Amino acid sequence: MAAEIQPKPQTRTPVLLNKIEASQDVVNTAVIIPKEDGVISVSEDRTIRIWLKRDSGQYWPSIYHTMPDSCSCMSFNPETRRLSMGMENGTISVSDCFSHQGRVTVVLFVLEMEWVLSTGQDKNFTWHCSESGTQLGLYRTTAWVSGLQFDVETRHAFVGDYSGQVTILKLELDSCSLVTTFKGHTGNVTALCWDPVQRVLFSGSADHSIIMWDIGGGKGTAIELQGHNEKVQGLCYAPHTRQLISCSSDGGIVIWNMDVTRQETPEWLDSDSCQKCEQPFFWNFKQMWDSKKIGLRQHHCRKCGQAVCGKCSAKRSTIPLMGFEFEVRVCDSCHESITDEDRAPTATFHDSKHSIVYMHYEPTMGWLLTSGADKVVKVRQTRCLLRQRLDRQPNSDLLSTNWSFDQSQIFSHQIFFRVELIEG
Ligand SMILES: [Zn+2]
Ligand SMILES: [Zn+2]
Repeated sequence: MAAEIQPKPQTRTPVLLNKIEASQDVVNTAVIIPKEDGVISVSEDRTIRIWLKRDSGQYWPSIYHTMPDSCSCMSFNPETRRLSMGMENGTISVSDCFSHQGRVTVVLFVLEMEWVLSTGQDKNFTWHCSESGTQLGLYRTTAWVSGLQFDVETRHAFVGDYSGQVTILKLELDSCSLVTTFKGHTGNVTALCWDPVQRVLFSGSADHSIIMWDIGGGKGTAIELQGHNEKVQGLCYAPHTRQLISCSSDGGIVIWNMDVTRQETPEWLDSDSCQKCEQPFFWNFKQMWDSKKIGLRQHHCRKCGQAVCGKCSAKRSTIPLMGFEFEVRVCDSCHESITDEDRAPTATFHDSKHSIVYMHYEPTMGWLLTSGADKVVKVRQTRCLLRQRLDRQPNSDLLSTNWSFDQSQIFSHQIFFRVELIEG
């Protein structure tokens, strides 16, 4: 039997499909409900809302629920329609265990394990059984955690924090062991994204960069992606199109082609004089005296890593295959070696026109949601629909369905809801 060849979905410039502007406060997290024209949002105004698209084309807050405190994060599982919530603070508890003191920063529901992983301002990383609400384990992190991912197959948790490092923990049912830490950022880790197929971890940072940690390759390769001018706020991997989508606080959205092979940037070399013209650098008093020359400032070529003076590295170039989508300093000989073909961008750049606080990507429909500091949620289409359009439910079906919140569990600062879809 001939294998069915699936055409690769074509990508295009994200097209704005809809704006949701009725929120009274900033939406901290929002997710697209797959196969429905719906969005779930949690906001600073303490509400959880489900927005469904009406015939008018506008999203309408079909139901909402008010929480005792504002919701800082959530995790939605489309299969079970389970919504796990992290709270700003408060003492809602039905059991005596308090997993966090203060704001819950990230919450992650893992269906396969029936686990809820969470981190808080108190620097505790905990995991709970989502069925019983029992706390299974706890780990003290070195700094406030802002990114959390989990690999179901190997039970590794990736924990990114404000010190700029990513800690890798192996979780057991009631304990965990420290595997290693990834250090590469010079600013806070702000977002993490795990691709379980390629076994690649992406980390975004306040230092404007993204690092791709290739775990599956087994060679310790870490590739930097430089395409943002501001703090990276979100990272999502689009498996159908093999793209990484990143966004930053200045509203920039970058869509990276991950089908290309990129190289690691070289280590910067140490030298007391320019490795091209041999003029001394300013701390090299002996050579300055001997050769009666003025010391120069040291720079580094981003392509070869050599220590060079300003005169020998006056030119700039993009080096997309090293992750540099913006022009960077290169030495004269490297500048000559870079061809126009080498300069072809491997990413596309888009403006969301609001300061992004949160981003979510829904892979089956190719929809990208951004929530902004302007209190607006925007939904964009990132690829041309092929067969997906046929799978979509007509709107009339949606109108005959009702949604309700069934609060199934509360423990410590996390609240679980099962969002039921009742056929009308
Ligand atoms: Zn020089
Ligand atoms: Zn060079």
